[in-house]
Amino acid sequence: MAERVIPLVDQRLTALRAALPAQPVAATGLVADTLGRPLRDLRISVTDRCNFRCSYCMPKEVFDKDYQYLPHASLLSFEEITRVARQFLAHGVRKIRLTGGEPLLRKNIEILVSQLSELRTVEGTPPELTLTSNGSLLARKARALKDAGLQRVTVSLDGLDDAVFRRMNDVDFPVAEVLEGIAAAREAGLGPVKVNMVVKRGTNDHEILPMARHFRGTGIVLRFIEYMDVGATNGWRMDEVMPSAEVRERLASEFALTALEAAAPGETAERWGYADGAGEVGFISSVTKAFCGDCNRARLSTEGKLYLCLFASNGWDLRSLVRGGASDEELASAIGHIWQGRSDRYSELRGTMAADPGTGGRRVEMSYIGG
Ligand code: SAM
Ligand code: SF4
Ligand code: SF4
Repeated sequence: MAERVIPLVDQRLTALRAALPAQPVAATGLVADTLGRPLRDLRISVTDRCNFRCSYCMPKEVFDKDYQYLPHASLLSFEEITRVARQFLAHGVRKIRLTGGEPLLRKNIEILVSQLSELRTVEGTPPELTLTSNGSLLARKARALKDAGLQRVTVSLDGLDDAVFRRMNDVDFPVAEVLEGIAAAREAGLGPVKVNMVVKRGTNDHEILPMARHFRGTGIVLRFIEYMDVGATNGWRMDEVMPSAEVRERLASEFALTALEAAAPGETAERWGYADGAGEVGFISSVTKAFCGDCNRARLSTEGKLYLCLFASNGWDLRSLVRGGASDEELASAIGHIWQGRSDRYSELRGTMAADPGTGGRRVEMSYIGG
């Protein structure tokens, strides 16, 4: 007799169900992990594809024409994403960020935005709904996104010098079009717009001051991000990291800055204001000043795996529950249970055995897990 082939989804479902408690974990909006951190922020990767090849994220040599992206059938549908997101909100999530890959490459993304905007937090308010984009398609999409209920966008831009920027995105994409996207986002009311600049020493650190000059006084918040060792393909080296303290010194050579209070607990960026009132800048110092202590972010990958840390190797396959007939209560219970077991704090442990215990896990790529 032929052996019965158990479909992969069933195997995964069985494994996941075995790891879950017999008694459901009720969604009270108060779930906390083993370090007492609540669940407040959900980042959803809607595609693992991108039209840029930033060397720190999707280096061309790896993400070439033969690279195997996820097949469409394995991506969570908009309805599936919305259903999962609803259960996260029941556990206390207040903010949802769409990301990727390049989220604006996902067809009809505004439909997802509209579905998510209908959800409510445990307090009964709409979740804060934002999106991170490379800006290349924003001029075309900003209005539709706003109309669908998106509140804000963050745009990544690593320099104003066209040659530097074209080199960094590695697909020869011009700065002018990203600036048009930023302008369109502001006009559509997707503000305050934030601009993320990853600083790589020796590559674009000479763009720090021109970027600051360009954006100060505009209401746009420029944030400097330390180049991170995320994923396993970008060839990260510490000597290419420019610590935020050094970036701040560069800025201080031209502008007086004063420290500002964090806007919300668990915020990734340290805020500083221009002393002359021309706005603020942010520093995201994942390498030199870890902020795991109050990290309240969960990540849902493109194919529906829940990751508890940007630097995780493994995720929890929520899609198998969704497609395996789990009820909303079971789904919520699984999310609560998984969060309760969370102890991740990679950035605090970076460089120690505890961070990389050599268990063979390969860190997932940022384009897949979502930035
Ligand atoms: N494609 C969109 C974009 O670039 O804005 C969204 C996804 S991208 C992975 C999200 C953010 O992660 C971007 O601001 C990007 O600059 C940042 N990022 C990617 N790789 C990084 C790295 N190795 N170190 C620091 N930031 C990184
Ligand atoms: Fe694409 Fe964003 Fe990664 Fe650049 S950082 S390759 S734009 S996903
Ligand atoms: Fe959160 Fe992991 Fe980043 Fe620490 S390293 S702040 S736990 S995502």
